[in-house]
Amino acid sequence: MEKVYDVIIIGAGPGGLAAALYAGRSRLSTLLIEKGQDGGQIAITDEIENYPGQIVEGESGPSLIARMTAQAEKFGVERVSDTIVSTDILGEIKTLKGTKGEYKGKNLIIATGAYSRPIGCKGEGEYIGKGVSYCATCDANFFEDLEVYVVGGGDSAVEEAMYLTKFARKVTLIHRRNELRAAKSIQEKAFKNPKLFFLWDSVVEELFGDEILQGMKVKNVKTGEITTIEADEDDGMFGVFGFIGTVPNSDLFKGIVDMDERGYIPTDADMHTNIPNVYAVGDVRVKSLRQVVTAAADGAIAAVQVERSLSDYF
Ligand code: NAP
Repeated sequence: MEKVYDVIIIGAGPGGLAAALYAGRSRLSTLLIEKGQDGGQIAITDEIENYPGQIVEGESGPSLIARMTAQAEKFGVERVSDTIVSTDILGEIKTLKGTKGEYKGKNLIIATGAYSRPIGCKGEGEYIGKGVSYCATCDANFFEDLEVYVVGGGDSAVEEAMYLTKFARKVTLIHRRNELRAAKSIQEKAFKNPKLFFLWDSVVEELFGDEILQGMKVKNVKTGEITTIEADEDDGMFGVFGFIGTVPNSDLFKGIVDMDERGYIPTDADMHTNIPNVYAVGDVRVKSLRQVVTAAADGAIAAVQVERSLSDYF
């Protein structure tokens, strides 16, 4: 007979891994499904300095995630690498269909996270991997000694811009307002960085080039003036990194689980969605602070709720 897990978790970012750890430790039969690499957005974050207890200088996202994964696996969590393509989760048994198999569980924890929002300018799609990137940790070394532009003004944009200064000759942050959204402590470091420059009140309108990214049009939102920026002749290209927020990975559940207008899943304080025995944790859910620590906390809460719902003691 096909195995019915106590709980299936989709997504092995900090929320999913924490849920797996707590479920595994509670001796629930637990299946963790991830389609790519563990860690979600944290896997592409260079430095983590605000996860409690994490004080190792220069600690990277991947190393923190590797420890979270090892910890969850130590408690007997089963793993499968698969992409879920359809679900039947309204009944008592939740069925997930993947490209490699079908999985059944009594409970489901959605920990599918979020991805980088595209800049939304003309030409963007054409130059992805040819100058345009959304991951400094992945692509910074391609821009060694070149000029780089970062779009956005939040924590991600400013932190990643600083990381890029380790590689690029000059980094210019393009922000649509004249003050940053990033935390003050991050801003302080950024303003002291001699390789980091700021283009305020500006948005990227268009990217262009001959096969690779060589130019862009930037509009000043206050004056309406359009400036064309072209790559230095000797360089032949430059980089544009987009960090303008995230979009939830919730398409799989559209029309099934309640969502807000942006696709984030609302839950109660115990991570219940509107569907019995279906939980949402981490960046995919409606919340005010999207951090490793809040995703991990969500995962722990959901797993404990699952344990209680299956237990005779409560
Ligand atoms: P975010 O905080 O939502 O910031 C997005 C930035 O992009 C904002 O500055 C926003 O401008 C700008 N923006 C949005 N749409 C735009 C558009 N269409 N065109 C141009 N600019 C646009 O996103 P994030 O920086 O990716 O951070 C996401 C979450 O992760 C946040 O909760 C953040 O605190 C957290 N995070 C934390 C850390 C950390 O604590 N070390 C690191 C990374 C991320 P406005 O400011 O004008 O709205």
